[in-house]
Amino acid sequence: MGSQMGSLGVDLAARLAMLEPLDVSGRAPRLRAGLAPAGIDALIVSTPANIRYLTGFTGSAGVVILTPDQLVLVTDGRYRDQAADQVFRSNAGARVEISSNAQRDLIVAAVGEAERIGLEAEHITWSAQRRYESDWFLGRSLVATTGMVEALRREKEPNELVRIELAAEIADAALAMMRPRLLDSPTELEFARELDMTMRTLGATRPSFETIVASGPNGARPHARPSSRIIEPGDLVVLDFGAVVDGYCSDMTRTLAVGAISATAQHMLDVVTRAQAAGVAAVRPGIAAREVDAVCRAVIAEAGWAEAFTHGTGHGVGLDIHEAPGVGSTSDATLAIGDVVTVEPGVYLPEHGGVRVEDTVVVTAEGCRPLTHSTKDPTLSTRPRPT
Ligand code: ZN
Ligand code: ZN
Repeated sequence: MGSQMGSLGVDLAARLAMLEPLDVSGRAPRLRAGLAPAGIDALIVSTPANIRYLTGFTGSAGVVILTPDQLVLVTDGRYRDQAADQVFRSNAGARVEISSNAQRDLIVAAVGEAERIGLEAEHITWSAQRRYESDWFLGRSLVATTGMVEALRREKEPNELVRIELAAEIADAALAMMRPRLLDSPTELEFARELDMTMRTLGATRPSFETIVASGPNGARPHARPSSRIIEPGDLVVLDFGAVVDGYCSDMTRTLAVGAISATAQHMLDVVTRAQAAGVAAVRPGIAAREVDAVCRAVIAEAGWAEAFTHGTGHGVGLDIHEAPGVGSTSDATLAIGDVVTVEPGVYLPEHGGVRVEDTVVVTAEGCRPLTHSTKDPTLSTRPRPT
């Protein structure tokens, strides 16, 4: 593991070190163009990932006010240096206002004369909305908006793709290094912890969500949390995990076979792998997201397991591990160039365990390009034991 970590790690570390700070200055103008069509004169952005997208600021408290002529981040004194530094490097056009006890005045001043004020309906709290309505913005109209910034976030810029791709490579490298460890009878928790540590060692800021290690019967629960169950010969092991690089997530699932597995388990692997490949092959600009879902579902239904595929086929990935567009049977999105989405069908049978295979792909003019590259061969080769 040492030498493998060495060569992979050096290459990844060099590329991580070369990342330029993201310039996000072009985003506010694009959002601004959506104000009038949405029927608003100003937008108060409260969703943390949207604030980061517009300003570069990564703090956990603050709001952004966008008007036709300015973009203002209001946050508190804890973030004085961080906000100035991050916004200075990322968005030269944005202004930072700091106050720990007079945020009301700063926000009201930034909104200015705007009569129709948009709020992010999916994020704003009831109490904040009431405070705005009955006090801060008395007499003006508050407008519920949905997905304005999220729609912009769908089309990944080259600098965003570089980050998602690096995150995906870290996850690929970590899995390659960790595969033999499954033959040592670790518990799910031990394996998850070591996989996470390996991703961090390779340069990940953190895992992009709580790593799923679901072995044997636990695999039949799509979002099982790692347990103290010992991974044993005969198990299928569902590994669903990702890394974060400079805020951007990767997401991948592989299902591995520990030793000899049952004929049914092998059949599950074959069917899901075929369904997943068919889904990836269907991804192209202009296709309805629900059509990609239908393609995967048809392969699984043909095998008689329609009822055992209990979730949607995929989701967008970016600053959030789950973002627009959804790729499911009820999605109304149409895929477009620059979308980064997952394709992750699965089959879950309580008596046999679970199989899920997931890649993250970017939609291109020609179709799509996978960003996750780990082998889909489920078998584990034994490694020589030290003597
Ligand atoms: Zn996943
Ligand atoms: Zn996923």
